[in-house]
Amino acid sequence: MIKHRLKGLLRDAWALGLYHTGLWRVADRLAPRRLLVLAGHCVEDPAVNGDLPADMRISRSRLTQLLGALTSRFEAVTVDEGWQALQAGSGRSMVALSMDDGYRDNLTVLPAVLEETGARATVYLESRALLERRPNWSHGYFWLLAEGGLRPVEVARAYMAHADDEDACVRLEQLLLEERASAYQVKRVLKYQARREERDRVLGQLVEERGGDLQALCERIHLTLAEADEAAAAGLELGGHTRTHEVLSTLEAEEQAAEIEGGREDLARSLAGGAPTTFAYPFGRRWDFDGASEEAARRAGYCLAVTTHAGVVTADSPAYRLPRLMIDEDTSIPQAVVQAAGGYLLLERLGLHLLE
Ligand SMILES: [Zn+2]
Repeated sequence: MIKHRLKGLLRDAWALGLYHTGLWRVADRLAPRRLLVLAGHCVEDPAVNGDLPADMRISRSRLTQLLGALTSRFEAVTVDEGWQALQAGSGRSMVALSMDDGYRDNLTVLPAVLEETGARATVYLESRALLERRPNWSHGYFWLLAEGGLRPVEVARAYMAHADDEDACVRLEQLLLEERASAYQVKRVLKYQARREERDRVLGQLVEERGGDLQALCERIHLTLAEADEAAAAGLELGGHTRTHEVLSTLEAEEQAAEIEGGREDLARSLAGGAPTTFAYPFGRRWDFDGASEEAARRAGYCLAVTTHAGVVTADSPAYRLPRLMIDEDTSIPQAVVQAAGGYLLLERLGLHLLE
């Protein structure tokens, strides 16, 4: 814990030092060729995503500031363009924005921000939400908390009352007994312990009982196929993000292949621009995917896969485990600039890893 805090302090001090003295320019010249990939979900648009969790949204003004600070200093690319340039030996100091899941604000708000800042972006699409208009389970859960009037404790109790799902129910009961059934903890059980079919069935039933409509929700929050094509025509790169957004490491290898390869086939068949070339793991932490996921992404025909672990991509980064910088309202501009300038890559060469 102390080590973790010390690392955070050092990381901030290094960023502020390089940023305010202008020494980030020296780092930029000395560091290896690189690509910083930012990762978010939604740009705030009350009509589209007003009831989604706050940590999934970034305000238009903050995103504009952040992207402007980067595109005025570094070359703006999509994820695919940046990676191809690194492989070809041509790119030097690049920055890309990526947005996961395919929310409608990526069309209603994002293109104007990209135009204003000159940034480029890649949007990672869940094919079932795009094509069948069925959102993943987490949106049923978020709806129950935001619109359905339930507290996390009540969702846990309702789940236990309705689900034939022993592992998840034992874990939820334990959380209730320990008075730890927070929104975060209940979500963790539904994400990692619950049986998929039971979880989807029960959450769907609970939403319906409270007058919710998941298909209508999907229409409001997720891009349609025509809108995704429109976004691509406006210059966004479209990438794959599985069919249904499960934690891949909880699935058997064949199920992972169905999610990853199947998701790419769905997109290849449907999108005007054809098959996507880049892929993002759902959730993206190193315990959320495994070797079988990497293999499935490669076999599916994706040239790379991005995670949600911090870092900067270089030409020799492992193609199916590329790092990204998660962004939100509190993302520090000096941090982002110094990361894009390769300031931390120089320290890593000296054996000092400050980003994780
Ligand atoms: Zn996602």
